[in-house]
Amino acid sequence: MALIRGKTARTLITLCVALLVAITPVTTALADSGGASPGDQPGHKIKQPDQESGGIVPGQPKPRSKKKASKKKTTKKKSSKKKKTVPKKPTVAPPVITASFPVWGVTWTYGDADMRFGAGRSGHIHQGQDVADAEGTPIVAPKAGEVSWTSFQEGGAGYYLVLRGTDNRDYVFMHLQKGSLKVRIGSIVKAGQRLASMGNTGRSSGSHLHFEIWLGGWYEKGGHPIDPLPQMKAWEKLPRRS
Ligand SMILES: [Zn+2]
Repeated sequence: MALIRGKTARTLITLCVALLVAITPVTTALADSGGASPGDQPGHKIKQPDQESGGIVPGQPKPRSKKKASKKKTTKKKSSKKKKTVPKKPTVAPPVITASFPVWGVTWTYGDADMRFGAGRSGHIHQGQDVADAEGTPIVAPKAGEVSWTSFQEGGAGYYLVLRGTDNRDYVFMHLQKGSLKVRIGSIVKAGQRLASMGNTGRSSGSHLHFEIWLGGWYEKGGHPIDPLPQMKAWEKLPRRS
């Protein structure tokens, strides 16, 4: 009985130790004393949560958005840097015109003797030179100056204008086409600038320009017209628009 009791006591003690190991959370010292294998220790499961609490936190945000933003910025910079290169047009200096024949055409004529300066008229003499061409032919300033007068005379000059040249001579243009005046009193014009168009207004029997040159002022005291033909022949040789 004593041996059996002793064996039973050992077995009971071992079982008690095993139960203690199972129940007690502090396992290491008791398990070692009880001789149980580490794989069987139920305490291993109990320890796992403590280890995981200090573990790695997954799911760090990646800086993809920053990369995209930087890419957008670079594209914007590239687009802003792009500049349209417009090829420079070759600049050709226009010819300097200091004087011009007053009629811009190719078919004009001075007419016969009756259309010259000094030809007899009823009660007076012809005070200018006539130039015949088609109605609408451009009339231009023979010299730079200022338009000093424009008006209409039914029984004589028709639509006409007077240009005071920078050379202090007055240039008179008569029988101009109705509504063709490109200038008004006070207009500053350059030599060769269009003034009006050739017409047949006033006392006129066909389309022509009646052209006068005055020295000393147009109808001013001491002023008088001169024969414009020599001057016009000189202007004929100057370059002009076709
Ligand atoms: Zn005339």
